[in-house]
Parts: sequence; C-alpha cells; structure tokens
Amino acid sequence: MSDFDFIVVGAGPAGSSAAIRLATAGSSVLLVERADPPGSKAVSGGILWGRDLDGLIPDWEKSAPVERYIDFKSTSFLTRDSKISIDFRSKKFEEKKTGYSVLRAKLDQFLALKAKAAGATLVTGITVDSLARKENRIVGVVQDGDTITSDAVILAEGANPRVAIESGLREPLRDRDCAIGIKQIVKLSEATVNERFNLTGNSGYAGEFALGYLEGGVRAGGFLYTNKDSLSIGVVIAMENLRANGSTYSYDIMEKFMEHPYVKPLVEGGRVQEYSAHLVPEGGIDSMPKLFGDGYLIAGDSASMTFSNGMIIQGMNYAIASGAMAADSLLEAAKKKDFSGAALSSYQDRLEHSQVLMDLRKFRGIDKVTWSRLVHEVAPGMMENILFSMFYEDGNPKKHLAEIILGSLSKANMKRSELIMETYRMLRRM
Ligand SMILES: Cc1cc2nc3c(=O)[nH]c(=O)nc-3n(C[C@H](O)[C@H](O)[C@H](O)COP(=O)(O)OP(=O)(O)OC[C@H]3O[C@@H](n4cnc5c(N)ncnc54)[C@H](O)[C@@H]3O)c2cc1C
Repeated sequence: MSDFDFIVVGAGPAGSSAAIRLATAGSSVLLVERADPPGSKAVSGGILWGRDLDGLIPDWEKSAPVERYIDFKSTSFLTRDSKISIDFRSKKFEEKKTGYSVLRAKLDQFLALKAKAAGATLVTGITVDSLARKENRIVGVVQDGDTITSDAVILAEGANPRVAIESGLREPLRDRDCAIGIKQIVKLSEATVNERFNLTGNSGYAGEFALGYLEGGVRAGGFLYTNKDSLSIGVVIAMENLRANGSTYSYDIMEKFMEHPYVKPLVEGGRVQEYSAHLVPEGGIDSMPKLFGDGYLIAGDSASMTFSNGMIIQGMNYAIASGAMAADSLLEAAKKKDFSGAALSSYQDRLEHSQVLMDLRKFRGIDKVTWSRLVHEVAPGMMENILFSMFYEDGNPKKHLAEIILGSLSKANMKRSELIMETYRMLRRM
C-alpha cells in the first residue's frame, strides 16, 4: 500500500489547485513545496486572469488575497522620447471582473492553506530530489534518500522543472523556448497609486510596453501593474536575444525601463520591497512535453503552459486549470484503480477540450510576433513619426494622414514590402 494516494510536487497555482481538488474529493494527498512559506520563491507579473478558481474556491473573489480588479488595460510602445498607448478603460469590468492583480507571496500561501484545510498534507521547505520508479512506472518521490510512495505524482514544479528533466520526462528548455523576467515590487501609499494611475476604490491598471528604444537589437517587453499600495514592475527578455547581445545584462534593461521619462514619475519615491528573476516558458505547444505517463502527470509551467502576445501574459490561469484537470483525471483513474499512461491520457483529452490547449494550439508561433523586429524596432519609431507630424504645428500647410503615413513608411527601418508582410503575419497570429 502507498504512503499517500497522490503526491503533488510544487505548491504554486498548479500544484495547490490540484491538491485542493484531490483533497476535497477525499483522497490522501501530499503537497510538497521547497519554499517556506509557499510563494516566497514565486515570481509572476502578476495579473490573475479569468475565473479558473471558481470551480475550486467558490468565494475566492472575497476570500483570496487579491489586490485590485483590472479595469484599465493599456498597451504602450516606448521610444526614447515618446509613449504611444492604446488604453482601454471600461465600467463593464466593475460587474464582469476579468483579472485581479495579485502578490504571489500572499496568493500561493492562501492556495496552499486551502489545500491543507481540505485535508492535504502540506510540507514546506522540502525540495523533492527525484522520482521513485518501479518497473518503469512512477510510484512516488525521493527526498534526501527517503522514498515516499503514492499511486501517482503530479509534477507542478514550475518553469525550471528539474525533477521532470532529470527523470527524462521532459526535454530541457531551449533558449528559444524561454524568456527571462525581472521584477520589482515597489511600495507606495494607496493614495499615491490611485492618484498616479487615476484609479478609484480597488480598481487597477495593467500596462504592457514594447521597449522600442533599446540599442543593439535588444528586444524586451515591460509590464507595470498596480497593487493596493505597491506596483509590480518588470521586464521580460527573450533568452535567445539576451544571449545574442552578450554585453547587455537583464538588470540594465530593467534600469532603462524604470528610468524612461514616462515610467520614472510613476515609480518615483517608491521603496523596493522585492527584486526577483524567473524564467517564462514561452515556447508554447512546440516545447510542451508528453503530459502523462505511467503514474505521473505534468501541469502548469512545468509543461510550458504560458501565453504571451505582448499585450497580455498569462500562465497562472492555465496552471490552475491544468492542475484541476490533472486532479480530475487522477480521481477518475482511482475509480478503476488504473494509473497507467493509457488511463491517465484522459488528462490530455480534458486539456484538448479546454481553453488551455485550444489557446496554445491556436496561437502556436505567437512568439514570432511578441519578439518581432516589427514590434520592437520598427513600429514604435514609425508611430512616433506619424503622431509627431500630425500634432506638431509649424505653420506649414497640413498634410493628409495618408501622406504622413507614406512619408514615415519611407523613413522606416524596413522595406515597404517586408513591412506589409510582417504586419499581415502579425495580424494573423495575434
Ligand atoms: C516576470 C513574469 C511575469 C508574469 N506575469 C504573469 C501574469 O501577469 N499573469 C499570469 O497569469 N502569469 C504570469 N506569469 C506566468 C506565471 O507566473 C506562471 O505561469 C505560473 O506561476 C505557473 O504556475 P505553476 O504552479 O505552474 O508554477 P510556479 O508558480 O513556478 O510554482 C512552482 C512551485 O514549485 C516549487 N518547486 C519547484 N521545484 C520543486 C521541487 N523539486 N520540490 C518542491 N517544490 C518545488 C516552486 O518553489 C514553486 O512554488 C509571469 C511569469 C513571470 C516570470
């Protein structure tokens, strides 16, 4: 007989969601987390998009430590001197909440404690070293020489899935499949956050930025989100691009973002509470491992379930959804007492019929837009030229918009045919 019905490795959103579902159904579950407390090693932008917690914690919007609901979404292109933004604010989000800013140090602890309250055994400050096998099937985990057995294991170890890689259950991440994220939490007063972002009550702002002023072909995106009385600010840089520009360090890019004339006043006077870095597994469906096998399932970032198109970054929602679906598949398998790969393939079926794999399949190759030369090196400057020409009054006769656009096209750092093709590709992939 096994020590536990199930073991979950990692108490991030994926692991804790799986443990909540399993424990609520009456299974004995061991949830192992290397951080103590859970969340103290976690990094996320972090807007929790969607409603994936509805099925796990019905009152989560009231009970979970969410900071602000997002009613102000913005996408900006920065050049050295300018900021061009598409802002969307809507009262509709007051009634239909779409996303909340969260602080992972609080959220992860909340979710892990929910799993514990549902009956899971939560062990923190313990790193799983490897998986236990019997006749090629996963039968538990090994930590510091001790084996703890279970009928099946859910691997939810996040973007750097060492156990899965060392066990041969997934390939190591290639540079082209990941980005590096740098993040700071900057403390300000609640009144200052409201005033600087023109917010009231607990409404919040989520901004994404293309940093079109970086030199030497460096391509990076920025994010800036409001919490109740702090800001989450950071940059994400494609790993391939960072390596190709060996002299550019990620913290320099972070500094350049924080120092931008239209970003600096928003963070000024704040006190840095956290400074962290983390991988973002952006490779999508093409870098996904096999998600199930004899005695195991892989969920969340460990299975590269993140999505980013430069206007939004999502991963926590897929982690919660995939964790819950992994749990459902185990509960189904438990009824037949069959934890073979064939039985656990129901996890793949569930994911295929859910937003998780539908999104990741549909947006295969989106990274080519997110990190394109068009978005980072051409569009920001071109838009700045067009808008500057439109609004700079010098007493000369005005030009039609078409003339201005054609004039900027000829100055753009890209052939016109290439620009048209790239724009078309971008629109198709977005
Ligand atoms: C800079 C940045 C910005 C982001 N912004 C957003 C955003 O705004 N919205 C969004 O939805 N997503 C965002 N993401 C993505 C999101 O953070 C991830 O998709 C999400 O955290 C994945 O959850 P997870 O549970 O799979 O993994 P994680 O959250 O990484 O959790 C894995 C857990 O496993 C633990 N662990 C690892 N190995 C072991 C081991 N061997 N033994 C025991 N425990 C272990 C870790 O300590 C960790 O707690 C962002 C990511 C980054 C880096």
